[in-house]
Amino acid sequence: MRNKLMILEDLQELDLKSDGSQARIQDALSEIEALDGRLQEVQAAVEAKAVEIETIESERQTLEENLSLENVNITRSEANLKGITTQKEYQAVNKEIASAKKLITELEDQVLQKITRLDELKVELSAMQADLAALDQNLGSQKEEIRARIKSEETSVASDAKLRGEKVKAIPASMLKRYEKLREARKGIAVVEARDGGCLGCNMHIPPQMYNNLYRGEELITCPHCMRILILKQPQQG
Ligand SMILES: [Zn+2]
Repeated sequence: MRNKLMILEDLQELDLKSDGSQARIQDALSEIEALDGRLQEVQAAVEAKAVEIETIESERQTLEENLSLENVNITRSEANLKGITTQKEYQAVNKEIASAKKLITELEDQVLQKITRLDELKVELSAMQADLAALDQNLGSQKEEIRARIKSEETSVASDAKLRGEKVKAIPASMLKRYEKLREARKGIAVVEARDGGCLGCNMHIPPQMYNNLYRGEELITCPHCMRILILKQPQQG
């Protein structure tokens, strides 16, 4: 029994180590997710800026179209002036020309505003694109480093699993099952040391008769308080 208990203890050590690796792998995967999230945020901002530029560009085009329409109107009105015979008609057409010219000035102002805004936005966009490229590169190397960490954890988990497979063969299936259920129920710790008359798992006192049985090492003994499997490690004086 003593040998089997030692194997159980080895198993627990391997299992705890693997638990630690799995937790670190999960953390590392979350880190990668967080980095990807950051990159996506910046990408979205760059895309939004590009859309803003497109919108203003199309507004500018509409203004330009209106502007050339007004110019056509003026040319036509000016041509009409030549055929006019009455003073009244002449005044009406001249009024049309004047208001078209006023509109043209306004439109030209608006076009200029759009062009100025477009220039600003384009400068902003290229700065953002440069930042994005730098961030992408930076996060890329961070992710590479994290992936290397994950790989090394996975390698150690795999080799521990192999070792565990060997050790498991040396203990009865029922004992393994009991150990695994206990580990599940007791936060990963199924095997604990008994020392100085107490259980180191729950720090409760172990009845002397039970302690004596532990010394004999002939049976599997569990703590009456926390139910964990007890082992004796160092030789103790009775
Ligand atoms: Zn206990």
